[in-house]
Amino acid sequence: MPFSTATPASGVTAPLVDAGMGTEDDFARLGASARGAFVLVDQPPLVDVDGLFKEYVEAAAIEARAASAGVAGVVYVGSRPRDILYRHNVTVGNKNTRPMLVMERDGAMRAQRLLRAGVPLTLTETIDVQTGGSYESYNVVGEIRGSARPDEVVLLGAHLDSWDLGDGALDNGANVALVLDVARQIKRLGLRPARTIRFVLWNGEEQGLVGSMGYAKSHAAELDKHVVTNTFDIGCGRVIGFFTGGRPELVRATDRLLAPVAGLGPFTQLDVPIVGTDNFDFMLEGVANLVANQAPAEYGPNYHARSDTFDKCDTTQLRLNAVIAAALTYGFAQDATPFARSTRAQIEELMRTTDLEQQMKTFNVWEGWAAGTRGRARTGSP
Ligand SMILES: [Zn+2]
Repeated sequence: MPFSTATPASGVTAPLVDAGMGTEDDFARLGASARGAFVLVDQPPLVDVDGLFKEYVEAAAIEARAASAGVAGVVYVGSRPRDILYRHNVTVGNKNTRPMLVMERDGAMRAQRLLRAGVPLTLTETIDVQTGGSYESYNVVGEIRGSARPDEVVLLGAHLDSWDLGDGALDNGANVALVLDVARQIKRLGLRPARTIRFVLWNGEEQGLVGSMGYAKSHAAELDKHVVTNTFDIGCGRVIGFFTGGRPELVRATDRLLAPVAGLGPFTQLDVPIVGTDNFDFMLEGVANLVANQAPAEYGPNYHARSDTFDKCDTTQLRLNAVIAAALTYGFAQDATPFARSTRAQIEELMRTTDLEQQMKTFNVWEGWAAGTRGRARTGSP
């Protein structure tokens, strides 16, 4: 797992013990036998995006329990079918001090059956990872300048980076293609929007939304003029609506501006904040932000997996999604509705009234906000 520690070249050998689903009860049952052992933690098969969020949330609790039980390391039963491997970060990121693994499901279930039949097992882990210093990488930014109000920006983005077990076709190559296609088609039609449309391919999303964080910092002076940002990051499934982040006026505008493509709907807006992609720093900066909600189709089982390859992508649906993105982007660019930036107090209020804080802790992006290094400053403009 990313953020696992390395082992000595000779490996680390320890008993492998059955930790059930990694609940409080499971660790209580293991008692002292968890100390110094590798704990095998079962997971339900991942089938959809809800399951994915659940997987993240539960991993944080499981790893906290494992750490206080003094385990040598956690071994997750793979949540994907058969022998498909995938990337699953250690929750505490670079504060982790243990070797951490996901074991392919078939093999892990066999180990679990043996343990439950009373057969003692030991596991030798040999993990060869290198940890380096920081490095520089770049977002790709292009724009079509607005004809009437060029200082006002409507942003459409998708992240360019991916985990390298597969091709990253669903996460997020497909939506990079969508962003490029929208830019190309608006250009080809010779349309000049009233507001500027900015197209951004984010980098470093998978390392903690780093590219969009960098953008929010380097474009801080422009953020008052960012009308809305729109992020696509859930593969090739049909766009079924948008997350609108707790802004009723954005729901109304989105409903209205989707009218030209109503035939590709229905669309249902969910007015809740969502953490886990490049809308995040805009949300913390109080900028109106959308995230496309898409039918999970192939997304869940192939998420960050060796099986995230181009054949999983429904290219007809992807083209239709580009039409939806284009209509909405161009609609916002032609529209006159302003969306005032939320104040720090309003963002804090959003945290109090939704599960936003919990989501941020789950995705390991709480600290920057708490420390005041990320998001809207405490002082300054109201
Ligand atoms: Zn992604």
